[in-house]
Amino acid sequence: MTYTVGTPALAAWMREFARLVAANRDLLTELDSAIGDADHGANMDRGMTAVLKALDGEDAGTPAMLLKRAGMTLISTVGGASGPLYGTAFLRMAAAAGAAGALDAQDCARVLRAALDGVVARGRAEAGDKTMYDALAPAVDALDAALAAGRDLGEALKAAVRAAEEGTAATIPMIARKGRASYLGERSAGHQDPGATSVTLLLTAAATALADGA
Ligand code: ADP
Ligand code: MG
Repeated sequence: MTYTVGTPALAAWMREFARLVAANRDLLTELDSAIGDADHGANMDRGMTAVLKALDGEDAGTPAMLLKRAGMTLISTVGGASGPLYGTAFLRMAAAAGAAGALDAQDCARVLRAALDGVVARGRAEAGDKTMYDALAPAVDALDAALAAGRDLGEALKAAVRAAEEGTAATIPMIARKGRASYLGERSAGHQDPGATSVTLLLTAAATALADGA
């Protein structure tokens, strides 16, 4: 079955992501206190609270309009590394969505890959650097693979979440090579990356909100 993801489903995705970020705010802060400056939970919660406010009553436009507004809001409200990284990811998703009024499963995969491309363009992270890349890259690969194997969008997004969870767990032994955690060198090993953890929440929210379309 092909589902079509419209602007209301994307708005539901943002609401669910904001809810998960708020619910996991302390976890994200705790992870960032081990290898950063203990602000990732506060950063993401402030950003997503602002996104929900900015999107209020915006369900009528195109997917690209919603994604662009979310990206601009994240850039302007979230300090630190994650604001520009998430913001660029959302702006790239908006560009990939183009003028379409709704997205099919392949479009969703293309849009999420554009998010990964945005993170790389902005932060230059590679596999194994212990960043949000290490959750997002395996997730978009799993999404593509599941769709190519004939899975529907809901199943493919569940596969993407599993890959993101595995990718996030795999950041634990890594020595950070990008961002604040890299200042710690070998002492960054043994801790899960906060950004990879929040990216997994983003994908979990997508699996909840986008699977049924609308
Ligand atoms: P800051 O590090 O400025 O305090 P946050 O704490 O909000 O910002 O976000 C930290 C997260 O940002 C890290 O856990 C990591 O996943 C991500 N990050 C940092 N630098 C990069 C980069 N160059 N590329 C991709 N992700 C990065
Ligand atoms: Mg931080």
